[in-house]
Amino acid sequence: MINLVSDTVTRPTPGMLAYMMQAEVGDDVFGEDPTVNRLQDKVAEMFGREAALFCPSGTMTNQIAIKVNTNPLDEVICDVDSHIYQSETGGYAFNSGVAISLIHGVNGKITADQVDSALKPGHDWQPISRLVVIENTSNKGGGSYYTIEEVRPIAELCKRQGLRLHLDGARIFNALTETGEDPVSWGRMFDTVSVCMSKGLGAPVGSLLIGDRETIRMARRLRKVLGGGMRQAGYLAAACIYALDHHRDRLKEDHKHAKQIADVLRTKPYVKYIKPVDTNVIIFGLQDDIRDHHFISTLKDNGILAIPFGGNTIRFVTHLDVSGDMVSQVCDTLNRLSP
Ligand SMILES: *Cc1c(COP(=O)(O)O)cnc(C)c1O
Repeated sequence: MINLVSDTVTRPTPGMLAYMMQAEVGDDVFGEDPTVNRLQDKVAEMFGREAALFCPSGTMTNQIAIKVNTNPLDEVICDVDSHIYQSETGGYAFNSGVAISLIHGVNGKITADQVDSALKPGHDWQPISRLVVIENTSNKGGGSYYTIEEVRPIAELCKRQGLRLHLDGARIFNALTETGEDPVSWGRMFDTVSVCMSKGLGAPVGSLLIGDRETIRMARRLRKVLGGGMRQAGYLAAACIYALDHHRDRLKEDHKHAKQIADVLRTKPYVKYIKPVDTNVIIFGLQDDIRDHHFISTLKDNGILAIPFGGNTIRFVTHLDVSGDMVSQVCDTLNRLSP
C-alpha cells in the first residue's frame, strides 16, 4: 500500500531507531533527561529564542500556547481553516475559556488588514482581542506558506495593538524549505512558536513550544497539568534530534513528488479543481457526479490510501515513506482511473 493519508504515518528509519536506542536518558519531570534537554536547547537556538519545551503532540503545544498567551474572556483571532479551530476539539474554549474570531483568508492565509478589521474596541460586552495565530504551512489551505514579508505587517500590527502572536508551525520546515528563510527570523517575530517533529520530519512522536524563558517556565507547569510530563522521554527526543539532522534537506523531495502528482491531476476530467500545490499537501475537488468515498475506495483497490477532506475533496500528503517509484505508480494509477 502507498499511504498518502498524512505525513504522520511515517515509520522510524533503521538509522533513527538505532540512534533512539543509544540515547542517554533520565527523568524529564525533574528536568534530568539529558537528551530532552539537548533537543530543547537545539530547537530554541535554531529559532533564536531562550527556551523550548518538548511535548507529546502539536495539539498540546498549541493549547499551551493559547493558555500562556491569554486570560479567560479574551479572544483568539485566526483563519477559519486553522488547526486550532478545526482539529483540536474546541480546546481553546475548554482549556483556556477564550472566544474565537474567524477570518476568511485565502488558502489558510490571512493579512494584517483582515486582522485589523477583526479587532474589537473593548466594550465590556465583547471578548478582549488578545492573540493572533498564524499557521505555516496551512494544512487545510493545501500546504500554502507565508513568507516573512507577508507576516511582518501582522507582527507589527500585533506589537502596535498589544496583541500576542503565536505560530502554529507544525510544518514550518516545509515552508522554510521553499523560501530558504532562516528559522531565527521566524522565531523572533512571534511570542510563541510550535513545531512538530512527527509530520514531514518523520519522528514517531513529539512537538516543541518555543519562546522566552519566563513563558516556557509557565508552559512547563501547563504541560504538567495537562498530563504531558513524561519520564525517560529522551528516547523520543533522540528521534527528533535525528529527524532534524537527517530529514530536513530531503523535504524538497516531498514537494517535488507532490508537484508531479498535481501535474497529473490537473489533466484529469474527474478533477474539478485543485488547490495550489506549494509544499507536500495536495487537495483537490472531484466532479459532482463522483463521490469522495467512492473515489477513495477505487484508490484503495489500486493500492493507494488517502482521506476525504470535506466538501467532496480528497487530500494526498507526500512524505519520507513515499519513494519516487511510488509516486510514478500513483501517477500511472491516476492516469488509468475512470471513476
Ligand atoms: C498536525 C498538526 C498539528 C498538531 O497535531 P498533533 O497531531 O496533535 O501533533 C497542529 N497544527 C497543524 C497545522 C497540524 O497539521
